[in-house]
Amino acid sequence: MSNRYRQFTEDCLLVASHNDGKVKEIAELLKPLKIIVMSSKQLGLPEPIEDGETFIDNAVLKARSACEISKFPSLADDSGLVVSALAGRPGIYSARWAETHTGRDFQKAISKVHRELGKSEDRSAEFVCALALCWPDGHIECFQGKICGNIVWPPRGTTGFGYDPIFQAVGDNLTFAEIDPIEKQKKSHRAIAFNEMVNSCFNLYDG
Ligand code: IMP
Repeated sequence: MSNRYRQFTEDCLLVASHNDGKVKEIAELLKPLKIIVMSSKQLGLPEPIEDGETFIDNAVLKARSACEISKFPSLADDSGLVVSALAGRPGIYSARWAETHTGRDFQKAISKVHRELGKSEDRSAEFVCALALCWPDGHIECFQGKICGNIVWPPRGTTGFGYDPIFQAVGDNLTFAEIDPIEKQKKSHRAIAFNEMVNSCFNLYDG
């Protein structure tokens, strides 16, 4: 069957992220492919300024920056929480909503979502994940996945990261911070984008 996507044939991949939670989830998803996985943080690469207008723009600029500096094929994820009643915010600013003078504080970001939602009856939201896979010759393939759900309050659960304690996927009665991480890995926005990428670019792997 013909495949319009570039096939990944290298034996190592740089995950272009400084977010430990994200790198851990991506490394788990890559495990069956038996590829050597490194992260930007491990290599001490700088974090590029994320000034794109979409999740895809930001994933591309992160993957491209890591790839140009390291010369390794690089995979970047740009993801976030899109809340309907907040006109899609925090969206591409999801990480920024957690920023403080001393680092990231997701209690703060979660409280901000709650405060801004106020008494709004519409609690619908989605997690979106864009992936960009960049090769040293500049070629890029992009994928996007999303999962629909609702914002719950108060936050519940202790697993996962970021906004997981206030996000409950449609059809679930547990938040992403309460479900078994293995379950999250099967159905999350990241897993959906990831499966697309593996089916498109990793046909040569039989893991
Ligand atoms: P960035 O893609 O590194 O700019 O940051 C995305 C931000 O979105 C993360 O720091 C989290 O706050 C949030 N986010 C993305 N994916 C998830 C997830 O699976 N669970 C919880 N929060 C997430």
